[in-house]
Amino acid sequence: MKKPELFLLGVDGGMTSYITEQIEKGKLPNLKKAFSESCVLTDCRPAYPSISATCWATIQTGASPHMHGITDENIVPEGAYLNEFVSAYHGDYLMAERFWEAAARIGKKSLIADFCVSGPARTDLARTVGGIGSVADSRVLATEQTLRTVKEISEQLYVFDADVSSIFPSLPAFAMTASGKWQPQIKLQQSKYDKTDKGYFRLHVEKKNDLENPFNIEEFYWYMDVTKKGINIAVSEKDMQAGKYYEVPMNGWSEVIKRTLKDDNGPGNYRFRIKLLPAGKNGGFMVFITSAVNMYNALSPESFAKRADNIDEICSSNSYAHFLTREGNIDTAFELIEFKNEWWKKIILDAMENDPADIMAFVMGHPDSINHMYRSIFEGLQNPTEEQSAVAKYAYKRAYEILDDFIGWLYEHVLGEDTVFMIIGDHGSIGFNRTVLVHDYLEKEGLLNYLPEPDGKRLYWRNRRIDWKNTKAFPVGCANVYVNLKGRQPEGIVEPEDYDKTVNEIIKALYKHHWNEKGQCYIAFAVEKQQAGFVGLGTERVGDVLYGLSGNTTGGYIGGVHACQIPSAKTATGDIRCLFALSGKNVKKGQIIDRPANIEDVAPTLCYLLKYPQPADATGGVLFHLFEDDMYQKS
Ligand SMILES: [Zn+2]
Repeated sequence: MKKPELFLLGVDGGMTSYITEQIEKGKLPNLKKAFSESCVLTDCRPAYPSISATCWATIQTGASPHMHGITDENIVPEGAYLNEFVSAYHGDYLMAERFWEAAARIGKKSLIADFCVSGPARTDLARTVGGIGSVADSRVLATEQTLRTVKEISEQLYVFDADVSSIFPSLPAFAMTASGKWQPQIKLQQSKYDKTDKGYFRLHVEKKNDLENPFNIEEFYWYMDVTKKGINIAVSEKDMQAGKYYEVPMNGWSEVIKRTLKDDNGPGNYRFRIKLLPAGKNGGFMVFITSAVNMYNALSPESFAKRADNIDEICSSNSYAHFLTREGNIDTAFELIEFKNEWWKKIILDAMENDPADIMAFVMGHPDSINHMYRSIFEGLQNPTEEQSAVAKYAYKRAYEILDDFIGWLYEHVLGEDTVFMIIGDHGSIGFNRTVLVHDYLEKEGLLNYLPEPDGKRLYWRNRRIDWKNTKAFPVGCANVYVNLKGRQPEGIVEPEDYDKTVNEIIKALYKHHWNEKGQCYIAFAVEKQQAGFVGLGTERVGDVLYGLSGNTTGGYIGGVHACQIPSAKTATGDIRCLFALSGKNVKKGQIIDRPANIEDVAPTLCYLLKYPQPADATGGVLFHLFEDDMYQKS
């Protein structure tokens, strides 16, 4: 078993303050060990905008956003309508060299998992899991504006003798709230079922939107029988009758169920787990089935995909968000995260055995999901009830316990004496009780106009139709406002000679509406793009005006708890700074360092430490003060 030279554990939204508090209370033993062996930075600043795509792109390239091109979570393609932006989570938009690509120049092999913007791979020496988007089982589209991702087929939820809206009464079943707010709803749409002549339930597996099932998986069903202990599930009625079924107890999971399903690529291995949950007070129940994932499609290159296809676990990396709810199903979310981690462990052990990698980089997304759903409550903002506070506390506890367990496993099985071990976050989070609605501000100032909706209904901004003939400015992503410029945008109305005037009107409008009741301005800056170099922006891939929030318990309309906050934003209880703990040969041990650093320093520092070539486009520097003073003498 060959151990890697570098293991980078990414923790999306990792909160240093939470970890240190828990360590002081005697919790999180493995993080305690990691911190005691590391240099821990308390002032490592994210990129701007503090959104995952931009920040992970910065970490993997050591370059600032204007160099690597992932300037926001959305990018407006040249000549497109301003609301036809595409997702920057797709690696095709990355213009800089990744650090593992630099290492590949001297023959270093890497294994990269769930790392935003890491796919598709550009070197034969990189094995990648997902990376086109943020998780393995869903992919963003490179060329089409969409809020949804491409998945094989989504999770399914079947409800018996109860109705979801009565179980989750706080909100209608499909309502969306701004991220970062209390989100007690279950977002799964219910699937249909019927009964067969032989008296079994036949569960229909349904696409939830038209982006699903790109490989045309054949139609398939599950057959279910209700027993005293729970349910039996089979893949066909014949199997059910022959006793070839899987037992699922109440509140429990099935084992991993492997099904061969035909799709455009021939017969493929799809794996599932099924959970049975109580529903309501009158003996109702719910059957949850994880999404259909054929890992072969999510992994590259093919030799790696073929090997990993034999691994028996699910990688339900995104489904858990559906269950981060108030009424008792939060544990289901954590169980799903643990299944994904089990799958990761198997991938890692398989690689160490069969195809050793010098570099391993795995990114965990769930701490960020916890921030989005619970941070504001956790910080005591938004007037939480006692019950809400307790759930938020529990969510943090479980999220970091799972992280801690995984680190413990790494120490036991993966990290060698000489392995450089880095725990790195892409950004932190800040609770908020007010949302900046840039669209509304521009609308109030007459810069943005919508077409009237036929029934006069007021829709969420994303669903409104824009009156381009009367629109001078439009916000995109977390940080940009574009001028609807004649000759550049279709239906552009702002004459080139009025460009500067319009830019100034936008800046004025942003400042005008960003004051709270205490008279504090919560916009940190709003500048024309030529001035945005101080946050590493300012290329053609940004808006004409760039702005950022100061924190101040104010969240952006994207992300809420992070994304629109500037890299140094901090409040009494929240901090946008990144988790950063580096350990290994030649690195100082047990140091807490409050000297400022930026995440663009991560890749240059790692490459220097490991004697890899520097990433070609790096703008960050080597953090020499983290190294032992005598490292030159030793090496
Ligand atoms: Zn996030």
